[in-house]
Amino acid sequence: MTFVLPELSFAYDALEPHIDARTMEIHHSKHHQWYTNKVNAALEWTALESETNMSFILSHLDQIAEEKRQAVVNSGGGRLNHSIFWSTMWPDWWGAPEWALADMINETFGSFDSFKEQFTQKASTVFGSGRARLCQDENGKLVLKRTSFQDNPVMSNLHPLLGIDVREHAYYLNYQNRRPDYIAARWNVVDWTKVAERLQ
Ligand code: MN
Repeated sequence: MTFVLPELSFAYDALEPHIDARTMEIHHSKHHQWYTNKVNAALEWTALESETNMSFILSHLDQIAEEKRQAVVNSGGGRLNHSIFWSTMWPDWWGAPEWALADMINETFGSFDSFKEQFTQKASTVFGSGRARLCQDENGKLVLKRTSFQDNPVMSNLHPLLGIDVREHAYYLNYQNRRPDYIAARWNVVDWTKVAERLQ
């Protein structure tokens, strides 16, 4: 087995009241575990069976036999998407982007507030299951993107920096149908240092 469930660097209840402990526990220990198990099975007997970099796998899908490809996208994307999601979270983050990332956000979106507005708009208009993302394109420029299901931006040559999972399992226990409240809460738990570390 190649991939194992990554441990969180904070407790399940650490993000409360923004994201509740029960949601975090199920999301991490059940959903993320499921994607992890599934991708190990999906990669068996493929050309990338021993590859340990999921971004590499998802950006080299042509090396996976066609009949196995969608299973790798679904489970491998789920595996990578959730790993990125947790790693860019931190309890009660008080800060905002700094240095290069702050400059890039201001240059691209006009201001941090305007960026948040545009990101929120993307997240609000994901139909069904998926994510809104801040990514870097091939030229290093910031772009906003919506992705569906467990697709990852690396599949379309984009590098993901920050995202929000808007599948109902990410918020329904606490927010029910109030996705806008959940999206607003995400800003309280963004680890901007980790997001900046992802810059390429
Ligand atoms: Mn999820």
